[in-house]
Amino acid sequence: MTLSLNCKDAGDPVCTHTMYGETEEEILENAKKHGIEVHGYNEQAWDEEISKNKDHFRKLIKSS
Ligand SMILES: [Zn+2]
Repeated sequence: MTLSLNCKDAGDPVCTHTMYGETEEEILENAKKHGIEVHGYNEQAWDEEISKNKDHFRKLIKSS
């Protein structure tokens, strides 16, 4: 089973990047890398964002 998370679903109006992972932990790790590299987050800002919105992000993860 592969999990996927679309950046657009997560709230970015223009980014079409999709993150993949085998586990929720892995996909959140990939999302973090993407957020830092592409969206200019630093590690602390990202961790704060995730901890505030973790349930929201979890609901956006699709499995296929
Ligand atoms: Zn993105």
